[in-house]
Amino acid sequence: MKRANTRSVRAGSVTIGGGAPIVVQSMCATRTQDIEATAAQARMLHEAGAGLVRIAVDSARDVECLAKVREMVPEANLVVDLQENYRLVTQVAPHVNKVRYNPGHLYHHEKTKPARDKVAFIAQEAARHDCALRIGVNCGSVDPAMQEKFEGADPPELRGVSAMVESALQHCAFLDDLGFTRYVVSLKDSDPRKVIEGNTRFAEARPDVPLHLGVTEAGLLPDGVIKTRIAFEQLLSRGIGNTLRVSLTLPFADKWKEVEAGNQIIADIEAGRFRSVPVFQDHGLNIISCPSCSRVENEAFVDLAFAVKEMSAYAKPYDITIAVMGCRVNGPGETDDADLGLWCAPNFVNLKKGEVELGAFPYDTVLDRLKLELDAIIEQKKPAAV
Ligand code: SF4
Repeated sequence: MKRANTRSVRAGSVTIGGGAPIVVQSMCATRTQDIEATAAQARMLHEAGAGLVRIAVDSARDVECLAKVREMVPEANLVVDLQENYRLVTQVAPHVNKVRYNPGHLYHHEKTKPARDKVAFIAQEAARHDCALRIGVNCGSVDPAMQEKFEGADPPELRGVSAMVESALQHCAFLDDLGFTRYVVSLKDSDPRKVIEGNTRFAEARPDVPLHLGVTEAGLLPDGVIKTRIAFEQLLSRGIGNTLRVSLTLPFADKWKEVEAGNQIIADIEAGRFRSVPVFQDHGLNIISCPSCSRVENEAFVDLAFAVKEMSAYAKPYDITIAVMGCRVNGPGETDDADLGLWCAPNFVNLKKGEVELGAFPYDTVLDRLKLELDAIIEQKKPAAV
């Protein structure tokens, strides 16, 4: 497969870019503090062929557990996502091969400190511990300053893409100025069209930087693979993309299917077997759901996502998006563009209609309320419906 001639970035035993085979990665959905389960899942993903295995870490206790998982699964290349507390990099970097930070989350802590200084701190710790970095920009959580600057710059169907690309370019410049070149970039969204557009624009501007491809919250099988395949076919066939993840909502024991799906898409593209239509047609019901990770607030999340899909099947002809997220870290922001959004808390589920919060509902009654809201939206749409 033709691939853009990026520089190569080593993360543990794998090389990303520079002509190396595309690295398929995945992420543990277990609670990081459940060391046995997380180690077992990391091993399962590694054995399924994941070149990198991501683990979520939010607290000092999570870091202790990460260190134990590292000892128990030395064969896997581990990656950690930094969320709002960027200083946690000091504790996690000794135990992993790559660290991901989200430029859109850096402003939360130490608000007066420039983002450039925070990036310098992350890069210094990464270099000290032989780690690669990923600048991981998500369209749903772009740095608010960038979002403001590029408000209105895109047509409605690509809203937020300019801010996402500019944010990524800005952070590349920060790292370049520091002389830190061991990084990759990702530009993700749940809409494959934004993923295609964002990655294409970025690759034109920075053909030297390896790209990590992904469609966030792609959802349940089989739709989740279809959305992802649409984006990956368009990008990989143009030589864009050096590592990838297929983010699927799956029962914990089936997490390896993310790796299988990634390898299958690559094999099909390499063999010239294209299955998608060139442009994503998002007509009809669209269910977005996160792949879950250790931050999931209640393990009933996966069942909830399946139940939402089943309950809402009757709404298939209507252009409606329902987003189901596992936690409050990304739930509120990532559901902003959905008609109906749900995100999990330990004992209840938050429900949102557009940007209006409707309240919190017990797990066993939230579907009833969701159905009422769905019916109301359908009623409004009926005159225009086919
Ligand atoms: S929404 Fe929360 S639980 Fe779901 S993958 Fe993102 S961080 Fe993890």
